[in-house]
Amino acid sequence: LALVGGFAPAPLLAAAPVYEKTPAGAKAERFVDDLLGKMTLEEKLGQMSQIPLNQKEDVTPDERILKGQVGSFLFVTDAKEIDRLQHLAVERGPHHIPLIFGFDVIHGFRTIYPVPLALAASWDPSVAENAESMAAREASAVGVRWTFAPMVDIARDPRWGRIMEGAGEDPYLGSQMAAAEVRGFQGPEIGSADHILACVKHFAGYGAAAGGRDYDSSDISDNELWNVYLPPFEAAVNAGAGSVMSAYMDLNGVPATGNTFLLRDVLRDKWKFDGFVVSDWDSVFNLTTHGFASGPEDAAVRAVNAGVDMEMTSHVMRDNLADAVKKGLVKESTIDAAVRQILLMKYRLGLFAHPYVDLARVSAVEESAEERDGAKAAAEKTAVLLRDEGGLLPLKSVKSIAVIGPLADSKADTMGSWSLAGDKDATVTVLDGIRRRFGATAAITSTKGVEIERGQPSIFDSQFWSPDPVLKTAAAREAEFNHAIDLVKQADVSVLVLGEAQNMSGERASRLSLKLPGEQERLLEAAVATGKPVVLVLLNARPLNITWASEHVPAILEAWYPGTEGGDAIAALLAGDANPGGKLPVTWPRSVGQVPIYYAHYLTQIPHDRDTMYWDGSSAPLYPFGYGLSYTTFALSNLRVSAPDVKSGGALTVSVDVKNTGAAAGDEVIQLYTHQRAGSASRPVRELKGFRRVSFQPGEEKTVTLTLDTKELGFWSAATHRWAIEPGKFDLWVGTDSNAKEHAEFTVLP
Ligand code: BGC
Repeated sequence: LALVGGFAPAPLLAAAPVYEKTPAGAKAERFVDDLLGKMTLEEKLGQMSQIPLNQKEDVTPDERILKGQVGSFLFVTDAKEIDRLQHLAVERGPHHIPLIFGFDVIHGFRTIYPVPLALAASWDPSVAENAESMAAREASAVGVRWTFAPMVDIARDPRWGRIMEGAGEDPYLGSQMAAAEVRGFQGPEIGSADHILACVKHFAGYGAAAGGRDYDSSDISDNELWNVYLPPFEAAVNAGAGSVMSAYMDLNGVPATGNTFLLRDVLRDKWKFDGFVVSDWDSVFNLTTHGFASGPEDAAVRAVNAGVDMEMTSHVMRDNLADAVKKGLVKESTIDAAVRQILLMKYRLGLFAHPYVDLARVSAVEESAEERDGAKAAAEKTAVLLRDEGGLLPLKSVKSIAVIGPLADSKADTMGSWSLAGDKDATVTVLDGIRRRFGATAAITSTKGVEIERGQPSIFDSQFWSPDPVLKTAAAREAEFNHAIDLVKQADVSVLVLGEAQNMSGERASRLSLKLPGEQERLLEAAVATGKPVVLVLLNARPLNITWASEHVPAILEAWYPGTEGGDAIAALLAGDANPGGKLPVTWPRSVGQVPIYYAHYLTQIPHDRDTMYWDGSSAPLYPFGYGLSYTTFALSNLRVSAPDVKSGGALTVSVDVKNTGAAAGDEVIQLYTHQRAGSASRPVRELKGFRRVSFQPGEEKTVTLTLDTKELGFWSAATHRWAIEPGKFDLWVGTDSNAKEHAEFTVLP
């Protein structure tokens, strides 16, 4: 093996599961090969080019279509315009090749679902699958047949704003969610009616951006790359994802968009990926800013040779590759292979057979009752109850509620970042929801109390907006603050809706601090100081420093950015019509100084030492990974493992009896963790290897059974540079968070 992409050659996962992909079919292959045979080099390069809506160029998009210089558009979401452009391409473009329209359908299209980090907090892959399936239906109805999602980047640094777009810190949970989202978007197979093509991103390692600064370099050891960062990508590819997006940053010094190791050795050769690769926005041209490519032509050459099939927005491939082929810098067969993948995917998606938009159907699909019910159910399932002292929640016979906070009545901040096509007007805020649910029996008052400043101006301000502050003077701000506290004093209970404005989360939204921004903490403290009961509802998508609140505010509900139906869902949860059952998909730090912090760490000294490692505070998280309360309680007993030992390649069955010991119906997530006691390399103290969310009636007892396949125990060893299931002794814990206590052991035999 030669040194590729700057990586030491790592012998690859010998025993990785083989996945039977939906075959594209001989008919499709013949059709595409025939088409390819008729295309000029320029037309082929056109198929590899993606143009954003409204890009200013000398040549109009229509002319590009007529000349065969474009294969895809992004950010066009108007059904009529999509249909018009498609008619142009299919009726008057060379070879009648349909366009593919891509868009960031991240957590909904018109109807917005909870953000992906929240979907992961459901610990129920079917919640994520349903949400993305419904999002796909709305998007496909307008002709958007391709989403740039799911983002499956593992994120262990909450300063990084894009933590909101993924499933959090854990490769096992992340893999389950990645596969579920791919199934949701694509349906049973690529081309299923009402579904769209998924694009797994950002390949790979983007979540490890240095300092949590978006787009910064990722320096990841082989150990972490294979065992932590790559598994969700492999799971998504195995679930049949039809496209992959290369990342912006460099991985260990080699830009991901020019990284042969990632795009060819891992993705194509090892994982047998049979879709196409699209760059990220301008990331091909940016190979020059990385100090990697010497100029636009070199960038184009190195991207396509590394394995990029379609270029998003920068056009250096379109404009330079014909010459590069003539000069022998790129083989025409490389271009053919790229175009073949794109055309095959268009064929498999059904674009050749059904290119146009059924304009009459759009309104029937958009924001249907089913969509909205689904969005509400998802928001209920994703909320995490972090604290409930003295049974304040659910709210009982209250006669007055003060709904306070800058996010209490903000539609944008209820939807969350990446809701670009979302219907803002239709969004139900927490105030709306509380009025509807409690308004008939309780007096509802509301005010902001404080506002959130927008922070640094960003190129994204026009896309990801939050309401601007309106209180311009210190006196006006103080009067508003005091007014809010007066309302708290007058009400039976107050619901403080605090967190981050949605533009503080998502792309280019890193934070130095994890504090509640602005004066929110002061507002919270003043509200609690009134002596009246206070419920804190958080709208945000990263762990925040709420250590003070965790000791002084009786009830805390992490509602994330819950989407279009968020307010109704939160009101239902506060009323006890629904019972929170979500669990944290991230370890929750006490302080930003603990970052990165994650449960699956390695242990080098005796555990006690680890807890006192900081001179000025605890090393322990505020809440562990997998944590979340309920309005009821559960008791676990009688853990049993089907056998004391198991042969490598076999499976064990792990069962535990779970009883709902409280008076409310509710869900519990049973979590299974393992630890390998010794091996060729050290292993983390615990690793999630199974989970199941189960519903219980009051008093109900059930046996919950999880299968532990020894394949899940395999790992890439930094000592042997091989993937293997290593025989030996293992610990196993079952419980309701990553501090699970029920313990057993087993042995893996060769
Ligand atoms: C983001 C991608 C996104 C693309 C198109 C980029 O800036 O990194 O995640 O899909 O823009 O919107």
